[in-house]
Amino acid sequence: VATEEVEPHFQPIVDLATRQVIGFEALVRWTDRDLGPVSPAVFIPIAEERGIISPLSQLLLRKATQTARNWPDELFLSFNLSPSQLVDQNTAQHILATLHRTGFDPRRLEIEITETGLMSDPASAEKIVNELRAVGIRVSLDDFGTGQSSLGRLREFQFDKLKIDRAFVSSILADKPSEHIIRAILAMCQGLGMDVVAEGIEEEAQAKRLVQFGCGGGQGYLFGKPADSEATMGYLREAYRIMAAARRA
Ligand code: C2E
Ligand code: CA
Ligand code: CA
Repeated sequence: VATEEVEPHFQPIVDLATRQVIGFEALVRWTDRDLGPVSPAVFIPIAEERGIISPLSQLLLRKATQTARNWPDELFLSFNLSPSQLVDQNTAQHILATLHRTGFDPRRLEIEITETGLMSDPASAEKIVNELRAVGIRVSLDDFGTGQSSLGRLREFQFDKLKIDRAFVSSILADKPSEHIIRAILAMCQGLGMDVVAEGIEEEAQAKRLVQFGCGGGQGYLFGKPADSEATMGYLREAYRIMAAARRA
C-alpha cells in the first residue's frame, strides 16, 4: 500500500441479450517483487486481519475511478467492499471523499457486498449502505447463493442488483437443480425490481441458456478476462467500433 503496488484490473459486464458492455468490475492485482503475482483471495483476507484493508481499498478506488472517468459516461464501475469495511463507520465517508477527489460521478459507481459482510453487524452495514445510496451509489449483493444466504436479508436490505455465483452458472447445463435455482432467483429478482448479473460465464451455451431464462446481465471469461487500464481502453475502443459499425449497417 505504501509503495502503491496494488493495481485495479477491470472485467467487462455485458447485457446478455445484445452482448454490449454496460460496465466493469474492478478486481485488485498485486505483484510482489519476490513472490510474483499474489491472488486477492490470499492477500485480501490478510489485509483485513492486519487492519490495512481501509487504506488499500481507498488507494484502489482512487486508481480505479481515475481510469473509469475516461470511459464513456454510460458505463458503470463496480467495486468490491470487504466484510470488515461494513463494520467501519468511516467507510462511506472515505468512499465519498475519494469520489470527490477524482471527480467520479457517484451515480456511475456500484458497490459489491457479500452476505458474510452483512452478518457481523447488520445495523452498521445498513447505515453505510444507506449513506452510499443517498448519493446515488448502487449496491449489489455479490456471490448470491453461496455462504449463509438468507431470503430475509432481501427484505431488510434494498439491493439494486444481485450477482448469481459462478457455482450455479458453471453447472447450469449439467444439472437440473442449478437450472431451477437460477430460474427461481431470476423470478424473485424480477418481483423485487432488482437487476441480475450471472457470474463466471465461460461457454456460449451457458450464455444462451441464461438469456432464455431472462437473465439481464453477464460476466465471465466468455466476454473478457480482467485486464489492466490500458488493455481495457483497447477493449472499449474495439467494442464501440463494432457498435458504431452495427448502427451504420
Ligand atoms: P469476486 O468478487 O466474486 O470476483 C470474481 C472472481 O471470479 C475474480 O477472481 C474473477 O477474476 C473471477 N472470474 C471472472 N470470470 C470468471 C470465469 O469465467 N471463470 C472463472 N473461473 N473465474 C472468473 P479474482 O480477481 O481472483 O478475485 C477473487 C476474489 O477476491 C473476488 O471474488 C473478491 O472476493 C476478492 N477481491 C478481488 N478484488 C477485490 C477488491 O478490490 N476488494 C476486495 N475487498 N475484494 C476483492
Ligand atoms: Ca465481486
Ligand atoms: Ca462474485
